[in-house]
Amino acid sequence: MAKDVVPTKSPPIDTGGSPTGAGVLLSILRDGRPRTRAELAQLTGWARSTLSLRLDALLDQRLVAPTDDAIQSGGRPATTFAFNQSARVVLAADLGVTHARLAVTDLATTVLAERSAEMPIDRGPEPVLTWLVESFHELLGECGRGIADVCGIGVGLPGPVEHDTGKPVNPPIMPGWDRFAVPEWLSARLGAPVLVDNDVNIMALGEYWAVRSQVKHMIFVKIGTGVGCGIMSEGRLHRGVQGAAGDIGHIRVPSYEDVVCRCGNTGCLEAVASGGALAARLRAAGEHASVGRDVVGLVRAGNVSAIQAVRQAGREIGTVLASVVSFFNPSLIVIGGDLAEAGEHLLAGVREVVYSRSLPLATQHLGILPSELGDRAGITGAAVMVLEHVLAPEAVDQAVMAISDE
Ligand SMILES: [Zn+2]
Repeated sequence: MAKDVVPTKSPPIDTGGSPTGAGVLLSILRDGRPRTRAELAQLTGWARSTLSLRLDALLDQRLVAPTDDAIQSGGRPATTFAFNQSARVVLAADLGVTHARLAVTDLATTVLAERSAEMPIDRGPEPVLTWLVESFHELLGECGRGIADVCGIGVGLPGPVEHDTGKPVNPPIMPGWDRFAVPEWLSARLGAPVLVDNDVNIMALGEYWAVRSQVKHMIFVKIGTGVGCGIMSEGRLHRGVQGAAGDIGHIRVPSYEDVVCRCGNTGCLEAVASGGALAARLRAAGEHASVGRDVVGLVRAGNVSAIQAVRQAGREIGTVLASVVSFFNPSLIVIGGDLAEAGEHLLAGVREVVYSRSLPLATQHLGILPSELGDRAGITGAAVMVLEHVLAPEAVDQAVMAISDE
């Protein structure tokens, strides 16, 4: 379901005097800069008549609008045209294990209304998704928009998602969700295309798109209830054949052979260094911690056991990431998820091992930084996933042709 995404800057292809090509025009204007007809003709290399046809198609769809400020050229003001980011809205959901964050965004991922709530994913697909649909209706009401304005819905789930179908596959902590047709179920109720991916992929996408688009090779590591990473390669999300790429949580780390993971194996990174694993270890040592956020609370309060545990978790994660760095050679590793809120203690552990265990050539320009978007990375990425699907040049052309054929 989900498409590979990249802010489109493909060279324009002139297909003659038809509105096909409007999609390419829109991809140029999506950078937000207003331009005159003359500038657009120059950028595309199209004849003025061809440009007018395609521009009119986008104006009809309200995806482009004339701007108020005209540019003075040769004494005569020339109208400028710009991407109309409020033409439609996107519904974005980042469903975690215990917690959900939802938003209505415009076509440039600006959040128009948002909500975060406790919503355990193990209530099962129909109860959770029914709540999601109701909440989306309420949020649309809050920002004065209607269901007819929705161009797509993006959903992140805390488990493996099959890329082609958008279905969760054997998600270990999501009883009842295995192979549930999330896109069809939601689309039938909300009347727009639905794209689903796992939570860490959408976080990687959001972080990349919003603040790191200059970084072409990036790993986004989420450390929360589970541990996983999203891989941006050449500016595209690398999902692998089925969508399982980046599932580093079940890579074995040395000297934890006695720790059993929920997947059935022993010594998995997730069983050793996730927020849940740290909370359990601290609980056994007499501290009050039931989830990863409690661990962060203890760290912030200066609890020495919690600080040591978080730093050691950083080292274990660093051990796995050192291999990932040698294999993939990213220029940036972004650390996100609940446990990342523990800040420098976690990052210091990761850096300590990655920089000492990877080859100098791979680390000389490698940054290891906290997520800038924080807990908004997921909803931003869910919106980006939708936008890159519905505003892809081919999709825009199809929409424009469908209208012009009527
Ligand atoms: Zn495991």
